[in-house]
Amino acid sequence: GIKCGIVGLPNVGKSTLFNALTAAEIPAENYPFCTIDPNVGVVQVPDPRLERIAEIVKPQKVIPTTMEFVDIAGLVAGASKGEGLGNQFLAHIRETDATAMVVRCFEDEDVTHVAGRIDPLADIETIGTELALADMDTVEKNLQRTQKVAKSGDKDARARLTVLEKVKAHLDEGLPVRSLELDEDSVLAIRDLHLITAKPLMYIANVDESGFENNPHLDKVVARAEEEGAEVVPVCAALEAEIAQLAEDEQQEFLEDAGMEEPGLNRVIRAGYRLLGLETYFTAGEKEVRAWTVKAGSTAPKAAAVIHTDFEKGFIRAEVVSYQDFMDCGGENGAKDAGKWRLEGKDYIVQEGDIMHFRFNV
Ligand code: GDP
Repeated sequence: GIKCGIVGLPNVGKSTLFNALTAAEIPAENYPFCTIDPNVGVVQVPDPRLERIAEIVKPQKVIPTTMEFVDIAGLVAGASKGEGLGNQFLAHIRETDATAMVVRCFEDEDVTHVAGRIDPLADIETIGTELALADMDTVEKNLQRTQKVAKSGDKDARARLTVLEKVKAHLDEGLPVRSLELDEDSVLAIRDLHLITAKPLMYIANVDESGFENNPHLDKVVARAEEEGAEVVPVCAALEAEIAQLAEDEQQEFLEDAGMEEPGLNRVIRAGYRLLGLETYFTAGEKEVRAWTVKAGSTAPKAAAVIHTDFEKGFIRAEVVSYQDFMDCGGENGAKDAGKWRLEGKDYIVQEGDIMHFRFNV
Protein backbone atom coordinates (compact mmCIF):
# COMPACT_ATOMS: atom_id res chain seq x y z
CA GLY A 1 0.00 0.00 0.00
CA ILE A 2 0.84 3.69 -0.09
CA LYS A 3 2.33 4.68 3.25
CA CYS A 4 3.35 7.75 5.21
CA GLY A 5 6.39 7.26 7.45
CA ILE A 6 6.55 8.98 10.83
CA VAL A 7 10.10 10.04 11.71
CA GLY A 8 11.67 12.24 14.34
CA LEU A 9 14.36 12.30 16.99
CA PRO A 10 13.84 10.15 20.10
CA ASN A 11 11.46 11.52 22.77
CA VAL A 12 9.56 13.90 20.53
CA GLY A 13 6.29 11.96 20.84
CA LYS A 14 6.31 9.70 17.78
CA SER A 15 5.12 6.57 19.57
CA THR A 16 2.54 8.50 21.53
CA LEU A 17 1.15 9.85 18.27
CA PHE A 18 1.37 6.54 16.44
CA ASN A 19 -0.37 4.69 19.26
CA ALA A 20 -3.14 7.27 19.31
CA LEU A 21 -3.51 6.93 15.54
CA THR A 22 -3.86 3.18 15.74
CA ALA A 23 -5.90 3.02 18.97
CA ALA A 24 -9.16 2.61 17.10
CA GLU A 25 -9.02 -0.98 15.94
CA ILE A 26 -10.11 -1.47 12.40
CA PRO A 27 -12.56 -4.33 11.87
CA ALA A 28 -10.32 -6.95 10.29
CA GLU A 29 -13.07 -8.36 8.08
CA ASN A 30 -13.12 -5.12 6.12
CA TYR A 31 -9.44 -5.29 5.33
CA PRO A 32 -8.53 -8.96 4.98
CA PHE A 33 -5.39 -8.37 2.95
CA CYS A 34 -3.59 -6.10 5.38
CA THR A 35 -0.41 -7.59 6.72
CA ILE A 36 -0.06 -7.40 10.45
CA ASP A 37 3.05 -5.44 11.21
CA PRO A 38 3.21 -3.64 14.55
CA ASN A 39 4.97 -0.70 12.94
CA VAL A 40 2.29 -0.22 10.31
CA GLY A 41 -0.97 1.38 11.35
CA VAL A 42 -4.01 1.16 9.10
CA VAL A 43 -5.98 4.26 9.94
CA GLN A 44 -9.51 5.22 8.91
CA VAL A 45 -9.70 8.47 6.99
CA PRO A 46 -12.29 10.68 8.67
CA ASP A 47 -14.70 12.03 6.07
CA PRO A 48 -17.95 13.74 7.06
CA ARG A 49 -19.28 13.31 3.51
CA LEU A 50 -19.77 9.58 4.14
CA GLU A 51 -22.39 10.17 6.83
CA ARG A 52 -24.19 12.71 4.68
CA ILE A 53 -24.38 10.28 1.76
CA ALA A 54 -25.55 7.59 4.17
CA GLU A 55 -28.38 9.83 5.43
CA ILE A 56 -29.76 9.82 1.90
CA VAL A 57 -29.02 6.22 0.88
CA LYS A 58 -29.70 4.59 4.28
CA PRO A 59 -27.34 1.67 3.66
CA GLN A 60 -26.77 -1.34 5.94
CA LYS A 61 -23.12 -0.41 6.36
CA VAL A 62 -20.87 2.65 6.09
CA ILE A 63 -17.22 1.95 5.43
CA PRO A 64 -14.56 4.66 5.45
CA THR A 65 -11.39 4.36 3.43
CA THR A 66 -8.02 3.90 5.09
CA MET A 67 -4.43 4.99 4.84
CA GLU A 68 -1.25 3.63 6.34
CA PHE A 69 1.19 5.23 8.74
CA VAL A 70 4.49 3.60 9.61
CA ASP A 71 6.27 4.25 12.88
CA ILE A 72 9.90 4.48 11.84
CA ALA A 73 12.05 4.34 14.94
CA GLY A 74 15.78 4.65 15.16
CA LEU A 75 16.60 8.04 13.74
CA VAL A 76 19.54 9.45 15.67
CA ALA A 77 22.52 11.51 14.59
CA GLY A 78 24.74 8.98 12.80
CA ALA A 79 21.85 6.82 11.58
CA SER A 80 23.06 7.19 8.00
CA LYS A 81 26.30 5.53 9.08
CA GLY A 82 24.48 2.69 10.79
CA GLU A 83 24.46 4.16 14.31
CA GLY A 84 21.64 3.01 16.57
CA LEU A 85 19.07 1.20 14.52
CA GLY A 86 20.44 3.03 11.49
CA ASN A 87 20.30 0.35 8.84
CA GLN A 88 16.90 -0.90 9.83
CA PHE A 89 15.69 2.66 9.97
CA LEU A 90 16.87 3.40 6.45
CA ALA A 91 15.38 0.20 5.04
CA HIS A 92 11.99 1.08 6.56
CA ILE A 93 11.89 4.69 5.48
CA ARG A 94 12.84 3.79 1.90
CA GLU A 95 9.65 1.76 1.64
CA THR A 96 7.40 4.69 2.44
CA ASP A 97 5.91 7.19 -0.01
CA ALA A 98 5.93 10.34 2.11
CA THR A 99 7.47 11.54 5.34
CA ALA A 100 5.80 13.10 8.37
CA MET A 101 8.48 14.58 10.59
CA VAL A 102 7.47 14.97 14.22
CA VAL A 103 9.23 17.88 15.90
CA ARG A 104 9.08 18.61 19.57
CA CYS A 105 7.57 21.99 20.39
CA PHE A 106 6.67 21.26 24.00
CA GLU A 107 8.72 21.95 27.11
CA ASP A 108 8.73 19.27 29.78
CA GLU A 109 11.59 18.87 32.20
CA ASP A 110 10.57 15.28 32.85
CA VAL A 111 11.08 14.32 29.22
CA THR A 112 14.72 14.37 28.20
CA HIS A 113 15.67 15.90 24.88
CA VAL A 114 18.50 14.08 23.10
CA ALA A 115 20.29 17.36 22.39
CA GLY A 116 19.58 18.71 25.88
CA ARG A 117 17.28 21.56 24.84
CA ILE A 118 14.14 22.25 22.89
CA ASP A 119 15.14 23.60 19.50
CA PRO A 120 12.90 22.34 16.71
CA LEU A 121 14.90 24.03 13.95
CA ALA A 122 18.10 22.36 15.09
CA ASP A 123 16.20 19.05 15.22
CA ILE A 124 14.92 19.55 11.69
CA GLU A 125 18.53 20.21 10.59
CA THR A 126 19.81 17.09 12.35
CA ILE A 127 17.18 14.90 10.73
CA GLY A 128 17.54 16.57 7.35
CA THR A 129 21.29 16.02 7.45
CA GLU A 130 20.96 12.33 8.33
CA LEU A 131 18.48 11.75 5.53
CA ALA A 132 20.57 13.70 3.02
CA LEU A 133 23.70 11.75 4.02
CA ALA A 134 21.85 8.48 3.49
CA ASP A 135 20.77 9.66 0.03
CA MET A 136 24.30 10.85 -0.72
CA ASP A 137 25.58 7.39 0.07
CA THR A 138 23.01 5.79 -2.24
CA VAL A 139 23.75 8.24 -5.04
CA GLU A 140 27.52 7.91 -4.80
CA LYS A 141 27.42 4.12 -4.92
CA ASN A 142 25.11 4.21 -7.88
CA LEU A 143 27.18 6.87 -9.58
CA GLN A 144 30.26 4.65 -9.53
CA ARG A 145 28.36 1.74 -10.99
CA THR A 146 26.70 3.90 -13.60
CA GLN A 147 30.02 5.47 -14.61
CA LYS A 148 31.39 2.05 -15.51
CA VAL A 149 28.39 1.18 -17.63
CA ALA A 150 28.35 4.62 -19.25
CA LYS A 151 31.98 4.19 -20.35
CA SER A 152 30.93 1.30 -22.54
CA GLY A 153 28.72 3.75 -24.40
CA ASP A 154 25.39 2.68 -22.95
CA LYS A 155 22.92 5.47 -23.73
CA ASP A 156 20.61 4.93 -20.78
CA ALA A 157 23.55 4.86 -18.40
CA ARG A 158 24.81 8.17 -19.78
CA ALA A 159 21.44 9.81 -19.29
CA ARG A 160 21.25 8.42 -15.77
CA LEU A 161 24.76 9.66 -15.05
CA THR A 162 23.74 13.21 -15.90
CA VAL A 163 20.80 13.01 -13.50
CA LEU A 164 22.89 11.45 -10.73
CA GLU A 165 25.51 14.16 -11.02
CA LYS A 166 22.85 16.83 -10.76
CA VAL A 167 21.34 15.15 -7.71
CA LYS A 168 24.73 14.73 -6.07
CA ALA A 169 25.60 18.41 -6.53
CA HIS A 170 22.27 19.35 -4.97
CA LEU A 171 22.78 17.04 -1.98
CA ASP A 172 26.33 18.36 -1.63
CA GLU A 173 24.82 21.77 -0.99
CA GLY A 174 22.87 20.24 1.88
CA LEU A 175 19.57 20.43 0.02
CA PRO A 176 16.87 17.75 -0.13
CA VAL A 177 16.21 16.15 -3.52
CA ARG A 178 12.55 17.23 -3.39
CA SER A 179 13.69 20.83 -3.87
CA LEU A 180 15.54 19.97 -7.09
CA GLU A 181 13.60 20.54 -10.28
CA LEU A 182 13.75 17.44 -12.43
CA ASP A 183 11.82 16.61 -15.57
CA GLU A 184 9.69 13.49 -15.74
CA ASP A 185 12.34 11.38 -17.48
CA SER A 186 14.93 12.28 -14.88
CA VAL A 187 12.56 11.41 -12.07
CA LEU A 188 11.91 8.03 -13.70
CA ALA A 189 15.63 7.43 -14.26
CA ILE A 190 16.36 7.49 -10.52
CA ARG A 191 13.06 6.26 -9.15
CA ASP A 192 14.51 2.86 -8.29
CA LEU A 193 16.88 4.52 -5.79
CA HIS A 194 13.95 5.45 -3.52
CA LEU A 195 15.76 8.56 -2.33
CA ILE A 196 14.45 9.58 1.06
CA THR A 197 14.73 13.33 0.62
CA ALA A 198 12.83 13.11 -2.66
CA LYS A 199 9.66 12.03 -0.87
CA PRO A 200 7.08 14.68 0.01
CA LEU A 201 7.42 16.02 3.55
CA MET A 202 5.18 17.53 6.19
CA TYR A 203 5.82 18.55 9.77
CA ILE A 204 3.85 17.46 12.78
CA ALA A 205 4.55 19.97 15.54
CA ASN A 206 3.97 18.26 18.88
CA VAL A 207 2.85 21.00 21.25
CA ASP A 208 1.52 21.13 24.80
CA GLU A 209 -2.19 21.46 25.41
CA SER A 210 -1.65 25.18 25.88
CA GLY A 211 0.95 25.39 23.13
CA PHE A 212 -1.16 26.01 20.04
CA GLU A 213 -0.88 29.78 20.39
CA ASN A 214 1.98 32.05 21.46
CA ASN A 215 4.44 29.21 21.10
CA PRO A 216 7.77 30.48 19.72
CA HIS A 217 8.90 26.91 18.94
CA LEU A 218 5.81 26.34 16.81
CA ASP A 219 6.20 29.75 15.13
CA LYS A 220 9.71 28.81 14.03
CA VAL A 221 8.57 25.53 12.53
CA VAL A 222 5.74 27.27 10.71
CA ALA A 223 8.12 29.87 9.26
CA ARG A 224 10.58 27.21 8.19
CA ALA A 225 7.86 25.10 6.58
CA GLU A 226 6.53 28.11 4.72
CA GLU A 227 9.94 28.64 3.12
CA GLU A 228 9.86 25.03 1.94
CA GLY A 229 6.23 25.06 0.89
CA ALA A 230 5.55 22.30 3.40
CA GLU A 231 2.52 21.84 5.63
CA VAL A 232 2.64 21.95 9.44
CA VAL A 233 0.08 20.15 11.56
CA PRO A 234 0.21 21.26 15.20
CA VAL A 235 -1.10 18.60 17.53
CA CYS A 236 -0.78 17.65 21.19
CA ALA A 237 0.17 14.00 21.06
CA ALA A 238 -0.32 13.47 24.80
CA LEU A 239 -3.85 14.83 24.61
CA GLU A 240 -4.61 12.76 21.51
CA ALA A 241 -3.43 9.65 23.33
CA GLU A 242 -5.89 10.44 26.12
CA ILE A 243 -8.76 11.02 23.70
CA ALA A 244 -7.99 7.80 21.84
CA GLN A 245 -8.35 5.81 25.08
CA LEU A 246 -11.92 6.95 25.63
CA ALA A 247 -15.10 5.24 24.51
CA GLU A 248 -16.87 6.97 21.65
CA ASP A 249 -19.50 8.81 23.73
CA GLU A 250 -16.88 9.89 26.25
CA GLN A 251 -14.74 11.17 23.39
CA GLN A 252 -17.55 13.42 22.24
CA GLU A 253 -17.96 14.85 25.72
CA PHE A 254 -14.23 15.33 26.16
CA LEU A 255 -13.92 17.16 22.84
CA GLU A 256 -16.83 19.46 23.67
CA ASP A 257 -15.32 20.29 27.06
CA ALA A 258 -11.97 21.01 25.42
CA GLY A 259 -13.68 23.18 22.80
CA MET A 260 -12.50 20.91 19.99
CA GLU A 261 -14.64 19.99 17.00
CA GLU A 262 -12.79 16.75 16.32
CA PRO A 263 -9.65 14.95 17.45
CA GLY A 264 -6.45 16.61 16.25
CA LEU A 265 -5.52 13.27 14.76
CA ASN A 266 -8.08 13.87 12.03
CA ARG A 267 -5.98 16.78 10.83
CA VAL A 268 -2.87 14.60 10.85
CA ILE A 269 -4.61 11.88 8.86
CA ARG A 270 -6.07 14.23 6.27
CA ALA A 271 -2.75 16.05 5.84
CA GLY A 272 -0.99 12.72 5.36
CA TYR A 273 -3.58 11.68 2.81
CA ARG A 274 -3.07 14.89 0.81
CA LEU A 275 0.70 14.61 1.12
CA LEU A 276 0.55 11.16 -0.46
CA GLY A 277 -1.41 12.61 -3.37
CA LEU A 278 -4.50 10.58 -2.60
CA GLU A 279 -8.13 11.27 -3.42
CA THR A 280 -11.43 9.73 -2.39
CA TYR A 281 -14.35 8.51 -4.43
CA PHE A 282 -17.50 6.83 -3.14
CA THR A 283 -19.74 3.93 -3.99
CA ALA A 284 -23.27 4.30 -2.68
CA GLY A 285 -25.63 1.33 -2.63
CA GLU A 286 -28.24 -0.01 -0.24
CA LYS A 287 -25.84 -2.62 1.05
CA GLU A 288 -23.04 -0.20 1.78
CA VAL A 289 -21.85 3.32 1.34
CA ARG A 290 -18.12 3.23 1.06
CA ALA A 291 -15.14 5.51 0.49
CA TRP A 292 -12.26 4.36 -1.70
CA THR A 293 -8.80 5.75 -2.25
CA VAL A 294 -7.13 6.47 -5.57
CA LYS A 295 -3.98 8.27 -6.61
CA ALA A 296 -4.99 11.74 -7.79
CA GLY A 297 -5.29 11.73 -11.59
CA SER A 298 -6.40 8.10 -11.86
CA THR A 299 -8.65 6.99 -14.71
CA ALA A 300 -11.99 5.31 -14.07
CA PRO A 301 -10.67 1.76 -14.79
CA LYS A 302 -7.81 2.33 -12.31
CA ALA A 303 -10.33 3.48 -9.74
CA ALA A 304 -12.42 0.39 -10.41
CA ALA A 305 -9.34 -1.77 -9.85
CA VAL A 306 -9.17 -0.52 -6.26
CA ILE A 307 -12.42 -2.41 -5.63
CA HIS A 308 -11.41 -5.50 -7.60
CA THR A 309 -8.65 -6.05 -10.15
CA ASP A 310 -11.15 -7.75 -12.50
CA PHE A 311 -13.12 -4.52 -12.65
CA GLU A 312 -10.24 -2.86 -14.51
CA LYS A 313 -9.89 -5.52 -17.22
CA GLY A 314 -13.63 -5.82 -17.76
CA PHE A 315 -14.35 -2.11 -17.47
CA ILE A 316 -17.12 -0.94 -19.79
CA ARG A 317 -18.12 2.42 -18.37
CA ALA A 318 -18.72 4.31 -15.18
CA GLU A 319 -21.82 6.12 -14.04
CA VAL A 320 -20.70 9.21 -12.19
CA VAL A 321 -22.20 12.02 -10.17
CA SER A 322 -20.25 14.55 -8.16
CA TYR A 323 -20.73 14.60 -4.39
CA GLN A 324 -22.13 18.12 -4.57
CA ASP A 325 -24.69 17.26 -7.25
CA PHE A 326 -25.68 14.12 -5.38
CA MET A 327 -26.37 16.15 -2.24
CA ASP A 328 -28.05 19.02 -4.09
CA CYS A 329 -30.38 16.61 -5.88
CA GLY A 330 -31.16 14.51 -2.83
CA GLY A 331 -29.54 11.36 -4.17
CA GLU A 332 -29.35 9.12 -7.22
CA ASN A 333 -32.87 9.54 -8.60
CA GLY A 334 -32.84 13.29 -8.17
CA ALA A 335 -29.45 13.50 -9.85
CA LYS A 336 -30.76 11.44 -12.78
CA ASP A 337 -33.84 13.64 -13.13
CA ALA A 338 -31.65 16.73 -13.08
CA GLY A 339 -29.40 15.32 -15.77
CA LYS A 340 -26.41 15.28 -13.43
CA TRP A 341 -25.86 11.54 -13.72
CA ARG A 342 -23.09 11.06 -16.30
CA LEU A 343 -21.80 8.11 -18.28
CA GLU A 344 -18.02 8.16 -18.52
CA GLY A 345 -15.59 6.00 -20.48
CA LYS A 346 -12.19 4.52 -19.78
CA ASP A 347 -10.32 7.81 -20.18
CA TYR A 348 -12.34 9.62 -17.53
CA ILE A 349 -10.16 11.07 -14.77
CA VAL A 350 -11.82 10.50 -11.42
CA GLN A 351 -12.51 13.69 -9.49
CA GLU A 352 -12.31 14.11 -5.71
CA GLY A 353 -15.67 13.16 -4.20
CA ASP A 354 -17.14 11.43 -7.26
CA ILE A 355 -19.85 8.92 -6.51
CA MET A 356 -19.41 6.06 -8.96
CA HIS A 357 -21.08 2.92 -10.26
CA PHE A 358 -18.96 0.70 -12.49
CA ARG A 359 -20.27 -1.39 -15.37
CA PHE A 360 -18.00 -4.22 -16.36
CA ASN A 361 -17.74 -7.63 -18.04
CA VAL A 362 -16.60 -10.59 -16.03
P1 GDP B 1 9.33 8.95 20.75
O1 GDP B 1 10.64 8.52 21.31
O2 GDP B 1 9.50 10.07 19.78
O3 GDP B 1 8.49 7.86 20.23
O4 GDP B 1 8.56 9.64 21.98
P2 GDP B 1 7.41 9.06 22.91
O5 GDP B 1 6.11 9.04 22.21
O6 GDP B 1 7.86 7.78 23.54
O7 GDP B 1 7.33 10.22 23.99
C1 GDP B 1 8.43 10.51 24.83
C2 GDP B 1 7.90 11.10 26.11
O8 GDP B 1 7.30 12.38 25.84
C3 GDP B 1 6.83 10.28 26.77
O9 GDP B 1 7.06 10.30 28.18
C4 GDP B 1 5.54 11.00 26.43
O10 GDP B 1 4.57 10.82 27.43
C5 GDP B 1 5.99 12.44 26.37
N1 GDP B 1 5.14 13.23 25.45
C6 GDP B 1 4.72 12.89 24.22
N2 GDP B 1 3.93 13.86 23.70
C7 GDP B 1 3.87 14.83 24.63
C8 GDP B 1 3.21 16.11 24.70
O11 GDP B 1 2.48 16.52 23.76
N3 GDP B 1 3.41 16.85 25.82
C9 GDP B 1 4.17 16.38 26.87
N4 GDP B 1 4.33 17.15 27.94
N5 GDP B 1 4.79 15.20 26.85
C10 GDP B 1 4.64 14.42 25.75
